[in-house]
This record gives sequence, C-alpha cells and structure tokens, in this order.
Amino acid sequence: MECIHCKGRLERSAAPFSIDRHGYQVRRHANPAWVCTQCHEPLFEAREVEFIQQPLDTLDRQSAELGVAG
Ligand SMILES: [Zn+2]
Repeated sequence: MECIHCKGRLERSAAPFSIDRHGYQVRRHANPAWVCTQCHEPLFEAREVEFIQQPLDTLDRQSAELGVAG
C-alpha cells in the first residue's frame, strides 16, 4: 500500500478520526489507520470508517422515525 498524497510507504498505526454529522461531531483519538512514513497523512480503511459510521446511521434513522431530525 502506498500514500495517496506522496506515494510514500504506509505503516500500520493509529490516527485521530472525526466525522461531522448533522449538528454533531464524533471523534476518536486513536483510530486504527495506515500512516504515511513520509508525509504522515493517515489513510483510514473503509471498514474502520464503517465501524464508526454504522451506529450513527442507525441513530439518524431512529431520530427520523421519532420525527426528531430536521
Ligand atoms: Zn505521504
């Protein structure tokens, strides 16, 4: 795997990750990620992102059903 920014080498590490949703933000300080050894840009795997997003999607759905959202 190589860095999408500088084509540098990625190594398994952890990086802060945050998602902005409708009106709130979810932050994890040490999310598993690939981090570039050259430019230190983190690359998150899709399944890691899903792991965070999934409960939020469920929450959004429930809010919509309750008529809270919007
Ligand atoms: Zn890089």
